[in-house]
Amino acid sequence: MIVLTPISGGKDSQAATLWAENKFGLKSLTGVFCDVKWEADETYLHIDYFTQKLGINFKVLTSKKYDGMVDLAVKRGRFPSTTARFCTEELKIFPMIDYILTLEDHIIVVDGIRADESAKRSKMEAECRYFKYYFEPYQTNTMIVESFADKPPVSLNQKKKLKKAQDRLAIGKDDPKYYTYRKKDVIKWCEKYDDSVIRPCFHMTGDEVIYYSLNRGYDINPRYKRGYKRVGCDPCIMEDIPSITLTVKESPSTIIKVKDAELKANSSFFPPDKIPKRYHSKVDKKGKSYPTMGDVERYINDKTATPDMFISDPVFKCRSHYNICE
Ligand code: SF4
Repeated sequence: MIVLTPISGGKDSQAATLWAENKFGLKSLTGVFCDVKWEADETYLHIDYFTQKLGINFKVLTSKKYDGMVDLAVKRGRFPSTTARFCTEELKIFPMIDYILTLEDHIIVVDGIRADESAKRSKMEAECRYFKYYFEPYQTNTMIVESFADKPPVSLNQKKKLKKAQDRLAIGKDDPKYYTYRKKDVIKWCEKYDDSVIRPCFHMTGDEVIYYSLNRGYDINPRYKRGYKRVGCDPCIMEDIPSITLTVKESPSTIIKVKDAELKANSSFFPPDKIPKRYHSKVDKKGKSYPTMGDVERYINDKTATPDMFISDPVFKCRSHYNICE
């Protein structure tokens, strides 16, 4: 049996890896890192620090098709977005599946997902199968209708999605959707081997996973101490304005990296609704305006031009989202 621990450089996967080491022993573990080639330097350094200190067998997985985020955007002619998150699929999920299919043994994947990260994640399970959605649908029209039961649709896209699902259900069609990537190979592999998933941090809070590492003598990614809520892609296509503000203020090299990538891909990194329209400098073929990284930077610089009068003693304020004071 091989215990796979995805390592992203973040606090959750780190705590899950330490839990796995305690539970199964270091010799059973293989840490895997899917390199999107878009992470912060600090994150690469932290992964080196953590894997070397733990002494874990460690594999770096990359896409066979794309040489990281920029190449993906260049070849697809656009950056991924919240509604088309092909970055996660192409650069993380597919390389992981390709790797698992090379293993000739049962696996247990110990991942760091936590329920309180998002509404979607709260619906996941603390234990399941890695290839679950090859055998049961990840989406049906019934699920879509149910997902809007407590929270009615707001955007036009959500309203269209709900209407379509209702119309299909009215004629008896539930349209189950399954994962299909290398489906035949996955099904054949699953006939021989187990593909369990354990999520030891599922019911833990962000603070708890941080202290799980600190109490074991392992430092966490320094980006948390600088105020970032999450680590990983730098920036992520879904980065919020407070995190982009930190980057604009403290990491000019990242802003240059995004501007260069936008030129290479001839596409904007952030979506049109990231900042007010009056800051957009570009217009697409349909006449819709959108912002460049430079526009987002300008908006943030304007927004933060006046110091925050509500921080009475900024020098001594803990900047970490998780209140980790040094
Ligand atoms: S962290 Fe963000 S940018 Fe990176 S792969 Fe995931 S969704 Fe895409």
